[in-house]
Amino acid sequence: MRLSFLGAAGEVTGSCYLVDTGEIRFLIDCGMFQGGRDAARKNRAAFPFDARGIAFVLLSHAHIDHSGLLPLLVARGFSGAIYATPATCDLLGVMLPDSGHLQEREAEYAGRDAKPLYTVAEAQASLRHLVPVEYGAEVNPHARVSCVMRDAGHILGSAILEVRLGGTKLVFSGDLGQPGHPIVRDPAAVAEADVLLVESTYGDRNHKNLAQTLDEFAYALDDTLAARKGNVVIPAFAVGRTQDILYFIAKLRRENRVRPCDVYVDSPMAVAATRITLAHPELQDRESLGMDEWLKGGAGGRIHFTEDVADSMRINAIRSGAVIISASGMCDGGRIKHHLKYNIARRECAIVFAGFQAQGTLGRRIVDGARRVNIYGESYPVRAKVFTIGGLSAHADRDALLGWLGKFRALPRRCWVVHGEPLAAQALRDAIEARYGWRAAVPAPRQTVEL
Ligand SMILES: [Zn+2]
Repeated sequence: MRLSFLGAAGEVTGSCYLVDTGEIRFLIDCGMFQGGRDAARKNRAAFPFDARGIAFVLLSHAHIDHSGLLPLLVARGFSGAIYATPATCDLLGVMLPDSGHLQEREAEYAGRDAKPLYTVAEAQASLRHLVPVEYGAEVNPHARVSCVMRDAGHILGSAILEVRLGGTKLVFSGDLGQPGHPIVRDPAAVAEADVLLVESTYGDRNHKNLAQTLDEFAYALDDTLAARKGNVVIPAFAVGRTQDILYFIAKLRRENRVRPCDVYVDSPMAVAATRITLAHPELQDRESLGMDEWLKGGAGGRIHFTEDVADSMRINAIRSGAVIISASGMCDGGRIKHHLKYNIARRECAIVFAGFQAQGTLGRRIVDGARRVNIYGESYPVRAKVFTIGGLSAHADRDALLGWLGKFRALPRRCWVVHGEPLAAQALRDAIEARYGWRAAVPAPRQTVEL
């Protein structure tokens, strides 16, 4: 039996693993590479296999870096089932067509001969392959393969995959959430694995604690809106992060720690994802129940969900007092770029980063202190105040990753550290060896190992 690391090896995007049992081949995740010039090339060359020969796909969650190449897989002839939790299926229903739309737009922008990676129609077609699987239910996509999904506590519907292949149990952590994170539940503990793949996005550091993070967030909001009379721009993934930010703003308002403000959620996807989140109260943890109350104005401020382009453009005219939440989370596409364009050069404004910024993205350049940045071909000075608040991450930090690993009762026979930039992955590997005495390895991109 062989396992190939086709993506998210030494990096955080392009999550995709090929399992070849000798009898059948299947994929775990089928994610898009994102960020950097190389991403487009890597996406086009992502499948070193015949898509028609893949029997099925097991999907950890809806984020595009885990699911975004499913339409391409189907377009290339894949005809099997894609197993995912019901909430993931709901989210993909809006996310994949949106991704197809972005691909079409990028191709248009690139010129006459450019072909989109896939189209909206191809994305729609891929949705017909989805098979929803509840947490804890066993599915048998093949006579000798079974899979159980457990709550990974990362975003709505996110799953840890426990896959049985004959006598071997392979566990894929997917993206693990941070215990105590709002809305989603804490990651489920897993007790045993023969082969373990664990993510390492934050393998080399711990998040600031939540209380301190909320203090900083409250300061960023009040300092900008009340004292300096500017706008706050928050780049946020539409799915997960946007709902978290809304939750925290409402919490700060309820506790009277920030003044009433106008919050604009400017992303059709974020609006849809918020609706889907509210439609799955069974997945919310206790402290987040009643979330719809604060969304309906319990925050004491106004939350505006903009859907069409005209609404979005009206926000450009607002000079002060607005909190603008928009996607993409790493500023490499989407409406956020317009909001940065209108606010980044203004001293009285602030940009608040609450999520991971991958190498090669505009978000990363701003976080790293660039004096000037290019947005849609024009250069802008970075005069707005830049805040990076680390404690809101939807990813487990180093201690939480080690804590989750510590719940295994026995040492996995093999352990690979995936889904992390090289330093983070190496750091987690070292920590796993030092703390638990397991032998772990960081796979190279496209490496194939014998199980
Ligand atoms: Zn994710």
